[in-house]
Amino acid sequence: MRSCSVCSSQFANFLPLASHYFEMLNELNVSYSLDDFETLNTGQYSCPQCAASDRDRLYALFVKTFVRRPEGRPLRILDIAPAPLLSRFLRSIPDSQYRSADLFSPLADDIVDIMDMNIYPDNSFDFIVCSHVLEHVPDDRKAIAELYRVLDKNGLAILMVPILLTAEHTDEDPDETDVNVRWARFGQDDHVRMYAKQDYMSRIRAGGFELLELDSRSFGQGTFRQQGITEQSVLYIGTK
Ligand SMILES: [Zn+2]
Repeated sequence: MRSCSVCSSQFANFLPLASHYFEMLNELNVSYSLDDFETLNTGQYSCPQCAASDRDRLYALFVKTFVRRPEGRPLRILDIAPAPLLSRFLRSIPDSQYRSADLFSPLADDIVDIMDMNIYPDNSFDFIVCSHVLEHVPDDRKAIAELYRVLDKNGLAILMVPILLTAEHTDEDPDETDVNVRWARFGQDDHVRMYAKQDYMSRIRAGGFELLELDSRSFGQGTFRQQGITEQSVLYIGTK
């Protein structure tokens, strides 16, 4: 039996990642395999009830297990580049104050460039979600420094990017605009880099964060399997 931490439904299996994705990568003859991404379950990808992906389920699991409201005030949440499903989940957290930020999306509360979030004072948030954003940003080090600045001292930040486990070095070029080249080198038409694990962790730490790596052991035996999250998945949590 599988269960989804986002919608609490139970069923036999999650749905696999859509096949057109594999077909396109095949056609482009890319050198990486989707199985080599650290947190991606192509076989048990999305929830048949709510469509949550494996990483959405990982975040919901983290919220339910580890995120607590600070003493005497609501939990101040910042959701960077909000996705409708996870945004709804975050807004449903009791005693919370939710804010979303995006450079373009009209769905966001604030139109903000993550490299310069001066509309937010230092230490403004207790919980930040920055998932699959930094690989789109021209200067990710500036963005990481800004995330660090706006996080409160006891705060927690989900800091996730696609990580290619077979890559030894991060490959990046914000000036590359050819869509097929971006797919081949960076894994998506609007990505400007493909991260290697060690380099990603160094960049986060260089921005000031203490970095925690949570894995299947952090959530109790059998939990990842039940939630359709691969054993090689890692949740990166930045603290101040
Ligand atoms: Zn679900």
